[in-house]
Amino acid sequence: MPVKNRFAELLPEITEWRRDLHENPEILFDTHRTSAIVAEKLKAFGCDEIVTGIGRTGVVGVIKGKSSGSGKVIGLRADMDALPIHEQTGLDYASKTDGAMHACGHDGHTAMLLGAAKYLSETRNFDGTVVVIFQPAEEGGGGGKEMCDDGMMDQFGIQEVYGMHNWPGKPVGSFAIRPGAFFAAADQFDIVVEGKGGHAAKPQETIDSTVIAAHLVTAVQTIASRNADPVEQVVVSVTSIESSSTAYNVIPQRVHLKGTVRTLNKDIRDLAEKRLGEIAQGVAATYGATIDLNYMRGYPVMVNSDAQTEFAAEVAASVSGECADAPLVMGGEDFAFMLEERPGAYILVGNGDTAAVHHPEYNFNDEAIPAGCSWWAEIVEQRMPAG
Ligand SMILES: [Zn+2]
Ligand SMILES: [Zn+2]
Repeated sequence: MPVKNRFAELLPEITEWRRDLHENPEILFDTHRTSAIVAEKLKAFGCDEIVTGIGRTGVVGVIKGKSSGSGKVIGLRADMDALPIHEQTGLDYASKTDGAMHACGHDGHTAMLLGAAKYLSETRNFDGTVVVIFQPAEEGGGGGKEMCDDGMMDQFGIQEVYGMHNWPGKPVGSFAIRPGAFFAAADQFDIVVEGKGGHAAKPQETIDSTVIAAHLVTAVQTIASRNADPVEQVVVSVTSIESSSTAYNVIPQRVHLKGTVRTLNKDIRDLAEKRLGEIAQGVAATYGATIDLNYMRGYPVMVNSDAQTEFAAEVAASVSGECADAPLVMGGEDFAFMLEERPGAYILVGNGDTAAVHHPEYNFNDEAIPAGCSWWAEIVEQRMPAG
């Protein structure tokens, strides 16, 4: 079962939508134009229900099948936001907004899910309900979390949820997936060591914040080497050390450390945060300084459910002939919040030999549209077959 013929027919139209979105990128929650276009199109397709303003600028559409005896409700999610990057593609439909660019292909994701929604509204060849989810602010704003916090999963009775991202470097229209942890939790921390500054020749009159900071940098390495189970992955990196003095002969009052923690397991993430705090307080007590830790949680680990991943891979293979095993990704993904609330799976679709995402020369590959749309439609038709 290759790509659906209907999507070959719809390709010029979906490509036109994609390029219009590309030309008009919007950042974080400011997806007002994009959200309005999505809602307008869903209405034109004949969706049964359209709700705007979920997670601020998120849009949800409901499409009922010919029958609903299965009682199943499946959520399909796309992201709509662009990045604060100055586009350098030279395309005739390049961004018209200086300093904003669809450099992660969310224009393509939105257009593909719209294409699937059009087809599913036309055919309704399934027994159950589809909820199409268009979220803002994937790029660091937590728009997916806000949609969940607004009660989206319960409001629409969503039971399973699926997501997709294009992947440069993979053959266009091919698929890859992995069960379990897929994208990492990416957290950040600030540590401020407050000592007692003074003359560098009279250390006995000071509490030396640089010596204390040096101990701290070494001590936090034991989270990975001594606290975490060696078979688990955890990275604790101190990435910046800034002292309040720039002189040769002054012991600084204060040292500010910054860093990041990457984990692929919820328990290890909790452990890293807890140990960072304990080490900071222990070092403070040892040397008589005050140490403040501010631990900022980013997106959680994105975990694909086993059963849904297996199903998603089978569907991908039915569309493209095969589905490859995807590698672990140490980047973060906002879809993680939806997968914390419901079982589901997130798949990668090949973007061909293009620049990497978040690069000013990146562009979504329109040739991936038929495969991407077919995967969405097949997820629905194979999970909830019409009677
Ligand atoms: Zn991105
Ligand atoms: Zn992205």
